[in-house]
Amino acid sequence: MSATILVVEDEPAIQALIEVNLRRAGHNVLLAADAETARQLVRDALPDLVLLDWMLPGMSGIDFARLLRGDARTRRLPIIMLTARAGERDKIDGLELGADDYVTKPFSPRELVARIKAVLRRHAPQATEDAVELGGLRLDPATHRVTAGGEEIGLGPTEFRLLHFLMTHPERVHARSQLLDQVWGDHVFVEERTVDVHIRRLRAALEASGNDALIQTVRGSGYRISSS
Ligand code: CA
Repeated sequence: MSATILVVEDEPAIQALIEVNLRRAGHNVLLAADAETARQLVRDALPDLVLLDWMLPGMSGIDFARLLRGDARTRRLPIIMLTARAGERDKIDGLELGADDYVTKPFSPRELVARIKAVLRRHAPQATEDAVELGGLRLDPATHRVTAGGEEIGLGPTEFRLLHFLMTHPERVHARSQLLDQVWGDHVFVEERTVDVHIRRLRAALEASGNDALIQTVRGSGYRISSS
């Protein structure tokens, strides 16, 4: 599993411990020692998950979580809160922040990695290596293969990521800007027309197996994958 994880933690020793263990588990790690830096990183590109310390200098972890939940772009971003005492966890629960999980310090790195994996499975399936099936298509991230009726379909890297994201988030309409955020990791410097170009290529690649109709254009809104 290879996800991009933003770690917001101000204690250098804990930051280093988390970083080494997440990298060992195959993840890309972005580091921030305060919420302001984290905010800038999220603005540049969406991570797959945020590991967020409760006690930070300046804006607290809770206020930062609230900020992420209050913005349509980051509302669904998975958050795991790091708390120093079990009591803090109860407080967060009371605040109904909607963090996806909590880890109390001191934690075992193995437990942390396992919790991250579980949250990604539930909330960011595009960051996992689980195979997905939809309509007549099967996509396996581990082998980087897409098949229809046992026949392999050749896709470019962007079309592969695009199809992976769509297949792990079926039936929902995705705006072009959301797809840029999720698939390209950049919603500022890439033109929205780029999405249309790659959707066209993806449909062309799926045409021979009759699966191109899975990808639907929702006029004025964006794209959706649907088997119905
Ligand atoms: Ca702290």
